[in-house]
Amino acid sequence: MSKHTTFKKDAARVAPDLTHRRIIRYNMSRYDAAVDRGKERYSDLELAKNRASAVKKYVLQHLPDLLMQFEKKAQSNGAEVYWAENSEQLIEQLIDLLNSEQCQQLVKSKSMVTEEIELNKHLEKVGIESVETDLGEFIVQVAGEKPYHIVTPAMHKSKQDIAKLFNQQFKTDPDLSAEELTAFVRNLLRDKFINADVGITGANFLCAREGAVAVTENEGNAYLSASFPKLHVVIAGIEKVLPGIDDLPLFWPLLAAHGTGQQLTVYSNLFFGPKKANEVDGPQRMVVFLLDNKRTELYNDAHLQESLKCIRCGACLNACPVYKNIGGYTYNATYSGPIGSVISPHFKVFSSFNHLSFASSLCGKCNEVCPVKIPLTKLLLYNRQKAQVYQANTVKATNGILYRILNNRLLMSFAHGRIKTLLAAFLSPFLFRGGKKLPPFPSKSFSEQWKKNKKR
Ligand code: SF4
Repeated sequence: MSKHTTFKKDAARVAPDLTHRRIIRYNMSRYDAAVDRGKERYSDLELAKNRASAVKKYVLQHLPDLLMQFEKKAQSNGAEVYWAENSEQLIEQLIDLLNSEQCQQLVKSKSMVTEEIELNKHLEKVGIESVETDLGEFIVQVAGEKPYHIVTPAMHKSKQDIAKLFNQQFKTDPDLSAEELTAFVRNLLRDKFINADVGITGANFLCAREGAVAVTENEGNAYLSASFPKLHVVIAGIEKVLPGIDDLPLFWPLLAAHGTGQQLTVYSNLFFGPKKANEVDGPQRMVVFLLDNKRTELYNDAHLQESLKCIRCGACLNACPVYKNIGGYTYNATYSGPIGSVISPHFKVFSSFNHLSFASSLCGKCNEVCPVKIPLTKLLLYNRQKAQVYQANTVKATNGILYRILNNRLLMSFAHGRIKTLLAAFLSPFLFRGGKKLPPFPSKSFSEQWKKNKKR
């Protein structure tokens, strides 16, 4: 089944699901109320957004230089910096590193880029236990699921769902309150932090001038993941770089206000390399991986480059009427919602995922809420245009093949009707959008039937 057909089937199943709708509406309404309060703290929100957009534009104009500056400075801080062109390269380098540290268990804080490269799956294959330490990520890991949303991974689960899940997995009381469930996870994770050989975090921002990694979170788990184990590994997309830490007073509150409605997230940390000689705490080694994974392709496209401004606040997902109806899993991609519909077709296989760019009413709410002013609907339209060109080229090529076959009596009569029907079913996705198919062929061709009837 094509990804497009799966998408349509899943959307048709989820949209009328009233339980899903009730949970999402409840969680989104709490988000909306908090974000409204968060935005009210700004005397001039538009000005802050314009400034953030301008800084990101500057970053894109100087991306190679800023990345080199970050690398140089991070190295002088004592960190090691590795570059990875794609996820395979990164996984290979990371597993070598983990083996050299004889790592058997690691703790990990929430990071979309590690979801993008399916890190846990790869670690499991080589026998390394990777424990998610963000509460939402922990819940979806225990459930054997992927994150539902880029900021709130377990948004689709009610408190009752989680209590039931923990009861099944850990034999806890099925009536635990939200506070008791949280305390249970906190206790369970404490041991994991103490015994982990390695801690992996993402990066919200990389500060080029200082070579520092900025990580912002609400539970203290990223802080513990970075400071308890002897090795701290950072995995970051190359678009995460900012000129310096003096940009953080603009970006940290914008991210918090749009992500969760907070003034600032509870823990905002800057990591300047491993523990220094005069420091008591901290990892002995810090390694930063800078991942491309098709970001350069976006960077080289004058239009799509704008998508690299994204700070992964999740506001466009929460604002999107399509996301609210079909839910995060229907996108079948790490990045969902409007920004996901722009970048996922390029991060994955464009021919298989370009239908995501059509999963939008183009109402423009996503443009309105984006703190870095990415013109999401413009980019969705741009993707659609690319999809049409791709489709037209494929149809042209397929038509060429069909033209040759249909004009050749020998070829047409060579195969049985059933084989022709199978061939037509195979070619249909290249010719038609929306799962349309050519009708089945009769078992005998017209000329065969004609000859047969003439003899009578
Ligand atoms: S595109 Fe904008 S609104 Fe959407 S996640 Fe990125 S920064 Fe947030």
